[in-house]
Amino acid sequence: MKIGIDLDDVVFEFTRTFLDFYSGRYGKLIKFEEVKTYYFEEIFDLPLEKVIDLIRDMVAEGVAGNMPVCDYAQESILNLADNHEIIFLTSRVIRKGTLDSLKKLFPEINFKLIYSSNSYAGTNGKTKGEICKEEGIHVMIEDSKEYASEIATNGTKVLLLGKPWNENFQSHPNIIKINDWKEVLVKI
Ligand SMILES: [Mg+2]
Repeated sequence: MKIGIDLDDVVFEFTRTFLDFYSGRYGKLIKFEEVKTYYFEEIFDLPLEKVIDLIRDMVAEGVAGNMPVCDYAQESILNLADNHEIIFLTSRVIRKGTLDSLKKLFPEINFKLIYSSNSYAGTNGKTKGEICKEEGIHVMIEDSKEYASEIATNGTKVLLLGKPWNENFQSHPNIIKINDWKEVLVKI
């Protein structure tokens, strides 16, 4: 199968890293469990442009290139790569260092990396759902409930990793909610 894999909060601990960076800048602590939406301007009480600037700064300072890897993501992806094609599909707006960090983490895999539009930031391009369809991706591993809906509606199956921001996701026959990476292997 062709397996699509999102990057932030699926492979890399983006939100935890960003919460640390934000608290360093603004001196405000926000807990991971409090991030109930991926519309960050609501969580951080900042305009969207400020949020994107902050992410850009985080990347520029090299913090983003050293994000911790999500639990069991690396070994699970290596395992999947034995029998499946791996396509990383991300809506990152700040893309610097992305390919390098993947090459560093998965030197032994022949993966593909594709960028989609970002509906939170309002950037242009093909949506994740359109790309999944075009690439013939059989199943997409995702953490955003908004992207999961859009991908599912476009006809691709989604494994939605449980996170505080997708607790109240809208159910769809193509979406299967899972708790962690170990469950990904079972479901696939
Ligand atoms: Mg994500």
